[in-house]
Amino acid sequence: MENKKELRNWLDAFGLDHPLVIAGPCSAETEEQVLKIAHQLKDSDATVLRAGIWKPRTRPGNFEGVGALGLKWLKKAKEETGMLTTTEVANPHHVDLALENDIDILWIGARTTVSPFIVQEIAEALKGTDKTVLVKNPVNPDLSLWLGAVERLYTQDIKNLGVIHRGFSAYEKTKYRNNPEWQIAIELQNKFPDLPLILDPSHIAGRRDIIFDLCQTALDLNYDGIMVETHHTPDDAWSDAAQQITPSTLIQIMKDLKIRKEIS
Ligand code: PEP
Ligand code: MN
Repeated sequence: MENKKELRNWLDAFGLDHPLVIAGPCSAETEEQVLKIAHQLKDSDATVLRAGIWKPRTRPGNFEGVGALGLKWLKKAKEETGMLTTTEVANPHHVDLALENDIDILWIGARTTVSPFIVQEIAEALKGTDKTVLVKNPVNPDLSLWLGAVERLYTQDIKNLGVIHRGFSAYEKTKYRNNPEWQIAIELQNKFPDLPLILDPSHIAGRRDIIFDLCQTALDLNYDGIMVETHHTPDDAWSDAAQQITPSTLIQIMKDLKIRKEIS
C-alpha cells in the first residue's frame, strides 16, 4: 500500500515478513541464555532477536543489564541463527557501541522517550543512519512526547523509523501492567501513516495469559508487527519474569492468531 512505503522499504531491505515478529528475552543474562533462546526461536516466525543489555530500571537495586558484553552475544546469536538483532539504546554512547557491533535495529525505551534532551542527543548520534530505529511510547499517556521523539529523529534524517506501543502507566491498578490506551497509538498512526506500528504486548500485560488477546487485537487494528518477550525458562528470568513466554508458547500463539499477511 502506498501509505506504508517506508514500512515496505525497510521490510524489503531486510527481507522480512509482514507482520514483523521480534522476540527474545527482556534482558540478556548470559551468553548461553541468549544463544539458547535464539536457537529455540529459529523455527518460529520471529525474524528479529531482542535482548536488553542496558536496562533502565525504575527503582535501584534491580538487575541493570550486562552492558556492552551482551553485544558480542547478540552478534554470535545472529551468526549462528541468521536472525537480525535489536537492543535498547538510552544514550549516544550506547548508540555508538550498538552501531560498532552490527546491531540491526535500535529501540528507544519508554523511560527515554519521556526525555527530550536525551532523545535529541540520540537522534544526533544517529544522524543520517539507515539503521531501523523504533521508538517506544513514553511511560505516561502523553501523545506529544511520543510525537516529539519521532519528529526529533525525522529531523536528523533518520528514515527507517517505526514505533512500538508498550502501554501507559497509571496510578490505579488494572488487569494490565501498563494500560493499552489503544486510541493514543491510533492517533499517532493517523498523524504518521507511514510509520510501522508494532505492539509490545509483554509490557502492557505484565503477565502471560493475556499476551495472545493483545496480539490479536493489534493485528485486527492493522498493526505491522509484535515484539514479545520470550525466555527459555521464564520463571527464572532476571527481569520481567511474570510476563515472559517460552519460544514454544510463541510458536503456538503465532499458529492461533488470525493474521492477514498483506500490508494495509
Ligand atoms: C524492555 O523492552 O524490556 C523495556 C524495558 O521496555 P520499556 O521501555 O517498554 O519499559
Ligand atoms: Mn522487559
